[in-house]
Amino acid sequence: MGTGKKSEDWSDAELEAAVDGYLKMLAIERSGQKLNKAHENRLLREGVLRERSKGSIEYRMRNISTELNDLCLPYIVGYVPAAHLGAGVAHRIRAAMIAKDAFNPDDYAPTANDQELNAKVLKLEQQELVGTPRGIEKPQRVSGTTYTFLRDPLVKAWVLKQANGVCEGCGQDAPFKQPNGLHFLEVHHVKHLANDGTDLVTNAVALCPNCHRRCHHSTDREEFAASLYTKVKRLKPE
Ligand SMILES: [Zn+2]
Ligand SMILES: [Zn+2]
Repeated sequence: MGTGKKSEDWSDAELEAAVDGYLKMLAIERSGQKLNKAHENRLLREGVLRERSKGSIEYRMRNISTELNDLCLPYIVGYVPAAHLGAGVAHRIRAAMIAKDAFNPDDYAPTANDQELNAKVLKLEQQELVGTPRGIEKPQRVSGTTYTFLRDPLVKAWVLKQANGVCEGCGQDAPFKQPNGLHFLEVHHVKHLANDGTDLVTNAVALCPNCHRRCHHSTDREEFAASLYTKVKRLKPE
């Protein structure tokens, strides 16, 4: 497009300029002001992006939407997320986003440590989560004193927010509130991670402790697990 250069050839400075322009536009849109995308595009082409065409900048903006969408962060409505890029460019776009404080990568990094996971979940639960997390198709087994799995904090936070304090197994309110004011529910993987279940929102439910124990220890645990698929529409049997 335009210069004949490949999209991978964008320099870090160019990617940062694109991210900077994007975040500026996003702030305008989020504040309810009218966004003039063509004007902002022109400004970028008068600066660091002088070698880029209007079309290639527009496409870059959609790449940035893709990365924000993957993090359940709001993106500019007019820049529909484009198909995923190769890991190399996607990584460089994320680095530019981090450099511009668009998000904190630590908040999203999967962890096998329960305490760490819950600290991340707590932070993510307090922000607006747009769309649905991509999750982890094949959670990586990590060896410690016992086997455990790398888990996506975004998936757990999203499932808890969806449940909104009501157990997805029995429909009752969570039994109590935590000191931080949030309702206490546990997130269970309907097909257990140990049985190669995914860490996707289509395999995770928020349950009260009774329903959670029932899933693991009751004589009717299989029937109860099966009933979750009818009760919770987003679940998909694996
Ligand atoms: Zn319950
Ligand atoms: Zn469980």
